[in-house]
Amino acid sequence: MSLAGSWRAELRKLLLVLAASGLLGWVTGYTLEMLCIGLGVLTGIWLWQLWLMRRWLEDPDQPPPESAGIWGLVYDTIYGLQRENREARGRLQSTVDYLRSSFASMRDGVLILTQSGAIEWSNYAAEGLLGLQYPRDRGQPVLNLLRWPAFHDYFLKGDFQQPLQIPSDRNSRQILQVEITTFAGGDFLLFFRDVTRVVQMEQMRRDFVGNVSHELRTPLTVFKGYLDTLSSSELLEDPRFQKAAAQMDMQVQRMENLLTDLLWLSRIETVSEDRETEDVNMVAMLEELREELRSSHPDRLVVLELETRDAVKGNYRELRSAVSNLVINALKYSEDDKPVSVSWVRGDQELVLNVVDAGVGIEAEHISRITERFYRVDESRNARTGGTGLGLAIVKHVAASHRAELIIASEPGRGSRFALHFAL
Ligand code: ADP
Repeated sequence: MSLAGSWRAELRKLLLVLAASGLLGWVTGYTLEMLCIGLGVLTGIWLWQLWLMRRWLEDPDQPPPESAGIWGLVYDTIYGLQRENREARGRLQSTVDYLRSSFASMRDGVLILTQSGAIEWSNYAAEGLLGLQYPRDRGQPVLNLLRWPAFHDYFLKGDFQQPLQIPSDRNSRQILQVEITTFAGGDFLLFFRDVTRVVQMEQMRRDFVGNVSHELRTPLTVFKGYLDTLSSSELLEDPRFQKAAAQMDMQVQRMENLLTDLLWLSRIETVSEDRETEDVNMVAMLEELREELRSSHPDRLVVLELETRDAVKGNYRELRSAVSNLVINALKYSEDDKPVSVSWVRGDQELVLNVVDAGVGIEAEHISRITERFYRVDESRNARTGGTGLGLAIVKHVAASHRAELIIASEPGRGSRFALHFAL
């Protein structure tokens, strides 16, 4: 029956009761009393229905009470809503179960923490990697259970831009990488990944490059020695030998530069985060560099703009090599009559070293790649300039270890700006 039909039937029932009790009252002479009795019976039926409804709502798994008219309609509507609600809950639960089981079966350890840092949930892998147990450890502050000092500092600092690598305390040869993100207004999601193999491979690569460069130095020194001896012998009076010797000399020099850069790169890559640092006086370093360039590039102009005397906390040798790579590149990739400007300025939150040239510039598609090892924009030009292709890789590394950012802006044919931004 429709809603309007049920209301009409209910109204008809009311009128019928009133008419019947009114008629009985008229016949017996007790009209008011009979009407009261009629209305009382109706109210009793409604109260009974309300009681039945309440009893059913307390135990909604039971089928709804049998009833016709408006009450039957109310029961049907509530029953329909309950069923829809149950189905929606079931669907939601199966989504939650699905997500949980996918998290649970991950090989990475996953932890969910509340805003206060208490463990809310963890998966099986967290048990193996960190020795945590769910649900036993639920509600425990994570810092009480994971006790690496580096992890404490990292978590309390709240800067999760870079992942953290820590040696596992369950297996000294295992290295774990922690990544943290915040979600749902301040809860934490932590991923612990076993990166031992990746770190080992990276270490092997560095060792290999370092060892090969080192080993190649000895034959190169012998070769260079013989070349020097040859250059003073009468053999060189023959112009054919002169050309060959000049070529050999140039290639030996290139190889020496390459080995020096490779060794230096592998050195700064292996040096740990807690290496010795000092307040590096950038002004003094830049003035010294300019003096050096005056003798190595006497016909070039390097303009220094020193707007601040702020020092940078870091490693002098590394910073010096980064800055000199940038300035020498600026000289290399611009015409002799174009000056190179180097400025040291203080911004709101940073100190910036700018190296600006009015040289050949770099096409936009190369900019993101020129800091890769051996990446060159133009092979033929580089053969002439004698570069190793490692200079900017060194700069990028030094920037990273000094929490600085290298920003490159360039316009082909007009020049380039290489800026090192050191956060204050
Ligand atoms: P390279 O030893 O070849 O100079 P780098 O790593 O220092 O190696 O630079 C990589 C490449 O980036 C260079 O080969 C060159 O093509 C480009 N490059 C670097 N600095 C500049 C600059 N100031 N102007 C134009 N191109 C540059």
